[in-house]
Amino acid sequence: MSTLPAAVHDAALGNHEGGVDWNRVRADFPLLMREVHGKPLVYLDNANTGQKPLQVIASQDEFYRRHNANVSRAVHALGTEATEAYEAARGKLARFLNVRPEELVLCSGTTFAINLVAYSWALPRLKAGDVILVSRMEHHANIVPWQLVAQRTGATIRVAGILPDGQLDLDALYKAMTGEVKLLAVAHVSNVLGTVNPVREICREARRRGITTVVDGSQAAPHLKLDVAAMGCDFYAITGHKMCGPTGTGALWARRDLLESMPPFIGGGEMIKEVSFDGTVFNDPPHKFEAGTPNIAGFVGLGAAVDYLESVGMDAIAARESELLAHATEALQAIPGLRIFGTAPGKAAVISFLVEGAHAHDLATLLDLEGVAVRSGQHCAHPLLQFFGVAATLRASLAFYNTHDEIDRFAAALVKVRRLLG
Ligand code: PLP
Repeated sequence: MSTLPAAVHDAALGNHEGGVDWNRVRADFPLLMREVHGKPLVYLDNANTGQKPLQVIASQDEFYRRHNANVSRAVHALGTEATEAYEAARGKLARFLNVRPEELVLCSGTTFAINLVAYSWALPRLKAGDVILVSRMEHHANIVPWQLVAQRTGATIRVAGILPDGQLDLDALYKAMTGEVKLLAVAHVSNVLGTVNPVREICREARRRGITTVVDGSQAAPHLKLDVAAMGCDFYAITGHKMCGPTGTGALWARRDLLESMPPFIGGGEMIKEVSFDGTVFNDPPHKFEAGTPNIAGFVGLGAAVDYLESVGMDAIAARESELLAHATEALQAIPGLRIFGTAPGKAAVISFLVEGAHAHDLATLLDLEGVAVRSGQHCAHPLLQFFGVAATLRASLAFYNTHDEIDRFAAALVKVRRLLG
């Protein structure tokens, strides 16, 4: 069964020889055509959540219209179709990450994925005296679960610092990898600074020291061509809603031996082979970690999102976003009193900034009235903002479907609303 509209297969969006037709790509995103407060929308909050192309929307619509049934239970035709569609999405995602489908646990997103590692891998293993190493640029989803583990095991958290330009301080990180460190939790790409961490090198250093690695790939998967197998990490977490997919979808990749050694996190239907009141025989991974009815239509949509990203081409997406980032950085740097947080070389298309004398929330509110959606606040990264000594920043995060014209409109709106604030 194909749960995808023919358009996905037909559309040669990414003509990689002659370049991508970005206007045509943009036309796939209906939400981008709307107005906000009577102004054309300029959506620059992509690090928060990405917009969805028609192909993703249509795939879910088709699933509910034609194939809806529960997975892995019924032998009837619809049950088989639904199960095939769900497993096809796992296969597509596995190919996208370059991992084996049997090693990919489907779940609601990165927060769930990291909690799964915390509860199933860390909680039974860690003890007083052990150390969990995290970087200062982590999202709360890669901090709080480790604090909960630390509280319950007596392990402690050690923080690896960053440099003023937003790069990880690698010398300090490697020095912090002492014998007590059992786990390293690190973002592939920072959601605030855009820094792309050298995760391959970091995981190699950790592995040499026997440290298990958890990489938060939430902000990497939408923007970079990934090869998780080559990365050398032990766990890699992604979230669907930032990569053109539906909310409530995501995945945890882990090496098969790790998944086999871990107890289930959540118990219920789907994750068992046999249940009696004397005990339960669990299913094999990854199903052992997928109790209950999953977000089936959501994963069909995520499969369509992967098809979509691949049809545009991840290399083309990365190149397009670098170009948009360069333009936006230049436009913002021309505004007097504007300070950018995070200037690491090769960073992703995320710009956190402040404008002297203006509150981040005030600017974001006024920008909204101009049709420009940017995020203001702490971006679920309080410790990182504490490092920079600021209470909040504005964040403009770009995606391949943004345009140079939108960047100019954003910069002009910022100059205008800054003036309004006096
Ligand atoms: N990690 C990073 C770096 C993020 O940017 C986010 C979302 O903003 C998360 C984790 C949480 O992902 P989810 O909302 O899918 O749980």
